[in-house]
Amino acid sequence: MNHPATYRDRRVVVLGLARSGVSVAKVFHALGAEVIVNDKKERDLCPEADELTALGISVLCGYHPEDLVTSETALLVKNPGIPYTAGPVRQAEAHGVEIVTEVEVAYWISKAPIIGITGSNGKTTTTTWIGELLGEAGLNPLVAGNIGTPLCEAAEVATEDNWIVAELSSFQLKGTSAFRPSIALLLNIAETHLDYHGGMEDYVASKVKLFANQTAEDVAVLNWDDATCRAIADTVKAKIVPFSLYVRLDKGVCIEPPFERGKESGADHKIVWRKEDGTEQTILPVSELGIPGRHNAGNALAAIAACLAAGAAPEAMVPVLKGFRGVEHRLEYAGEVKGVKYYNDSKATNATATIMSVGSLSSPIILIAGGLDRGSDYMELLPVFRNRLKGLVALGETRAKLANVAELAGLTNVRLVEPEEDAESTLRKAVQEAAGLAEPGDIVLLSPACASWDMFASFEQRGRIFKESAHTL
Ligand code: ADP
Repeated sequence: MNHPATYRDRRVVVLGLARSGVSVAKVFHALGAEVIVNDKKERDLCPEADELTALGISVLCGYHPEDLVTSETALLVKNPGIPYTAGPVRQAEAHGVEIVTEVEVAYWISKAPIIGITGSNGKTTTTTWIGELLGEAGLNPLVAGNIGTPLCEAAEVATEDNWIVAELSSFQLKGTSAFRPSIALLLNIAETHLDYHGGMEDYVASKVKLFANQTAEDVAVLNWDDATCRAIADTVKAKIVPFSLYVRLDKGVCIEPPFERGKESGADHKIVWRKEDGTEQTILPVSELGIPGRHNAGNALAAIAACLAAGAAPEAMVPVLKGFRGVEHRLEYAGEVKGVKYYNDSKATNATATIMSVGSLSSPIILIAGGLDRGSDYMELLPVFRNRLKGLVALGETRAKLANVAELAGLTNVRLVEPEEDAESTLRKAVQEAAGLAEPGDIVLLSPACASWDMFASFEQRGRIFKESAHTL
């Protein structure tokens, strides 16, 4: 493994500004490397550059120079979102320059052990929950990664007494080589981000890199209900701790009695921890978890397994398992208006997330969905549209496709919202249409199954406008 100190007086190129770029540039600058930061955005759109130029770091904005990465370059640290087809990444490949993401560098400098959390859905919820659980157990977590604070920032201040709790995307993991979390979680694998990865194989391979450097001293928490997670178990060298909603496990964290697929759960399910020594401990009834939905029960099992592996006492976890209210924009209860409950699930940017959220709510649902068109036909939504929805309000680029699925599902309450003068007015119109279809006792759920970028700057903006629109109906 490379320690950043070996880059003293050598050239390190940081591609992409944003907070993680700034953080990694400062790490190498402090270690005496010759740092060059480059971003394709114009200089006035890169306010972060000021802080770096004040330190004497070169920042090039507005273009990718033809000779940015040369044989003189020792390392390229790439922002995870930048594709491998970008010019400077190709230059690095041509010169045999190592290409990593900021999380790899964070691992090089961290004194604290790392809990790495990845998966297609549930990362932010589970990462936040683990942070709160470890905090309650007195284990000094530092929550970072894809979730907000760059991992390097956390790694710089972390001591042996901390746990770094890192949310990791496939984009970040693709750019790792020595990265070795002490505890690694793979929550699930669904088809998503295939445009970036070029296919499922590269996507799964990137996720699985989380386990690549683990040894028998480490722990791998795997979802035993997910065929892809189970299939990789044979390749994992770490001690495996499985979790399952549906299988009665001999060891690991599961539900007793297990849930049955396709059947409503009863009131008597409990979360149990089956230990290596053959004993078991009940943690709490599923019905007492602070957030609804089977998928969130799954996230709880994963979080419990990780925290037990980190040394948290089960008793210390119970108050946080009960008291956790989730994260904004993830099946977030947004209040009741005229007898109708509003839920903001703007972060549901793929069909799987929407299926989970719709399945978590029991009252009749008017779903607001649609957004960026990435080429899917959304046919996987057909069963939930048929069995769970009372109505659909479709907006965004995918509105006609979703309306088509609704028609095939036999839904009659379908409204297509054509674009108004701006995105805010369009979403407001959608909320009004949904309110018009709803009766007291119903739920209006924004769970778009699509990314927001056809209309909004972010899923957060979409979620905020939804909430404001509901409150001002
Ligand atoms: P991520 O960070 O992986 O995008 P989030 O915790 O932000 O995950 O949740 C994103 C969306 O996925 C939300 O709509 C949420 O309701 C749904 N979701 C959360 N956990 C799961 C899970 N384990 N399986 C499927 N969907 C989930």
